[in-house]
Amino acid sequence: MISKSPQAPSGGPLGPAFPQALLAGFGPDCLAFKACARLLVELLNPGGVGCPACGSTADPSPQLTTGGRVRCTHCGRRFTAFSGTLLEGCKISLQQAALIFLLLALGHDNATVATLAGVSAETARAWRAKLEAA
Ligand SMILES: [Zn+2]
Repeated sequence: MISKSPQAPSGGPLGPAFPQALLAGFGPDCLAFKACARLLVELLNPGGVGCPACGSTADPSPQLTTGGRVRCTHCGRRFTAFSGTLLEGCKISLQQAALIFLLLALGHDNATVATLAGVSAETARAWRAKLEAA
């Protein structure tokens, strides 16, 4: 009979300290960049990505779905899917942003968010305030 309990064989890496060890080693780099980028692009552009200058949504480039910069085929302005959103000009990685948003949504305090996302407590506080104001 196969056991479904999460116990490891004796001498294996799993044990009572395993979750804490996983938590200690976990960070934004454990998240896939493209998956984070696509999710954030979709959430921040519910009507689709458009040029912030002329509103054109024609010819959406695949680069836009991962946060890449493109030139509008109508007016020539360069933009990303984050232009005009709360992520415009942000200095943290998209994985850090996704992790910060997730941890804040789960109700974690600024110190925990800062530690797990690899940012300062001030940065965590600023993102909390930014989301609450949005
Ligand atoms: Zn345009």
